[in-house]
Amino acid sequence: MTPPRAIHRAIASCHTCGLASPVSLGKCPRCHSTLHLRKSNSIQRTLAFLIAASALYIPANILPIMVVAEFGDVLASTILEGVAIFWRKGDYPIALVIFIASILIPVLKIIALFWLCAAASGKVHPSPAALGRVYWITELVGRWSMVDVFVVAVLVALVQLGALMTITPGPAALAFAGVVVFTMFAAMSFDPRLLWDRLESLEKTKTSGNPPAP
Ligand SMILES: [Zn+2]
Repeated sequence: MTPPRAIHRAIASCHTCGLASPVSLGKCPRCHSTLHLRKSNSIQRTLAFLIAASALYIPANILPIMVVAEFGDVLASTILEGVAIFWRKGDYPIALVIFIASILIPVLKIIALFWLCAAASGKVHPSPAALGRVYWITELVGRWSMVDVFVVAVLVALVQLGALMTITPGPAALAFAGVVVFTMFAAMSFDPRLLWDRLESLEKTKTSGNPPAP
């Protein structure tokens, strides 16, 4: 016996103020926002933002992200080359922060969101425990999304520190900003309740033997 859920009683939580009211009202009685049971076209929107983010991830990594001028030498380097430069200079914490924030975290976020979209649309059938764990990790990684901004702050600080060294952003910086913004939008468009709706419909088909709803 599954416990009663708001969706079965057509009760929607207002996206703006959080008030729960019948979806038949159309508008929230408190703040007059439009009521939806689920975010509309959530999976399609999330996928569109994820594809845009993945496309921008390529120029973000192969074009120079910073142009370093030091003692008259001008050196344009990609994110990975930048990490290598800091690593060789012995600046291990900066190298690690840049690697984690600009290479690892965006990839993790994009892969996890693609997987959650696949699970919510019934393309993969993970166990409830696995689904819960991946969603928890996405939330955890999402909380660190501002680390990307921190990298920029570190770079600016470096410009201030080095009197004989100037760092200017390269074309990859714009692409990188796009990756950050699009993954943020993708995470915002995703409605996690679709995951639990899908799990519930799977459990129902297990007990009744009917094929799952498309
Ligand atoms: Zn409201």
